Amino acid sequence: MSGVPVLIAAELKELLDPSRLDGLDVTWIRSDEPTPAGEFVAAVPLLSRWMGGTEFKRLPKLRIVANCAVGYNNVDLVAAEMRRVVVTNTPDVLTAATADLTWALILACARRLQAGADLVKSGTWTGWHPQLLLGLELEGATLGIVGAGRIGQAVGKRALGFGMRITYASRTPKPEFEQATGASRLELRPLLRESDVVTLHVPKTPETQGMINPDTLALMKPGAILINTSRGDLVREEALAAALEEGRLGGAGLDVFTEEPEIHPRLRTAPRTVLLPHIGSATLPTRRHMAETAVANVQAVLSGGPPLTPVVP
Ligand code: NAP
Repeated sequence: MSGVPVLIAAELKELLDPSRLDGLDVTWIRSDEPTPAGEFVAAVPLLSRWMGGTEFKRLPKLRIVANCAVGYNNVDLVAAEMRRVVVTNTPDVLTAATADLTWALILACARRLQAGADLVKSGTWTGWHPQLLLGLELEGATLGIVGAGRIGQAVGKRALGFGMRITYASRTPKPEFEQATGASRLELRPLLRESDVVTLHVPKTPETQGMINPDTLALMKPGAILINTSRGDLVREEALAAALEEGRLGGAGLDVFTEEPEIHPRLRTAPRTVLLPHIGSATLPTRRHMAETAVANVQAVLSGGPPLTPVVP
């Protein structure tokens, strides 16, 4: 086989039309295999593969890491810059799917879907009761969006249909978003005090890691719901489990965890949770678009052009 040697996550093979791979000599690596050494000029990893100094040393010819995710906390950007390796991600193409899944979790937690479904399946449901599994009325409730970027704003726009008041915390104001949704910008602490549903959409950075902790959880309204479809590391999971066990929170909907695929044992048994296996972007068209965007970045850089979606830290 001739072509430019590149490494691509094997899990993407079936999502990619072979014509996208023209001119590439692909070595497919599974996520449970270590990154091989070699003359590879491009790598398309999943977010479960760490790409840092050691990997860059093993890949002296590497020109681009085209991460197949919008998050890029699995890539050491400083090491990449030192080696003059371009880093790209897959923004936009997964925004709608991830916003939809966030809403699936909001609705599931607000209306206690997991408990209701478990009750029916267990065969112990005794019939309609006026006080059975009372949930949170979303109309008129306040949604607090932490990180009003692409996904956070898409979640906010969907909230309009549910008649919610929208607040957001972001480093920079978002006037167009405010105009479109009537959202008001708050600092994190007042947002946590005022929101009935708090949803996290900031990236994982040293600043955001552990932002939901015993101190900030204590600010949340009694009975409020926490949703996290961003990265598990934003939340101190032990503290969240305690808040759920003590009945201080009304629920937690989580798609992401600190030690994926391990789940903190107290979270696994905590009440009023909906726990999902990191499926925020899991629709076929979105997953195809993600793989295609990553490979298109490789093709662009290898043909001497600028990357299509470079990571801007
Ligand atoms: P994005 O457009 O870059 O949005 C992130 C937003 O967070 C930006 O608007 C940024 O604010 C804001 N931000 C950063 N640090 C902050 C801080 N300390 N306090 C408040 N706001 C802060 O990214 P996105 O496309 O929406 O994706 C967001 C995250 O979702 C990704 O990083 C990824 O981890 C996660 N994700 C998960 C899944 C899944 O499968 N569950 C799928 C896709 C994405 P400024 O605009 O002011 O700079």
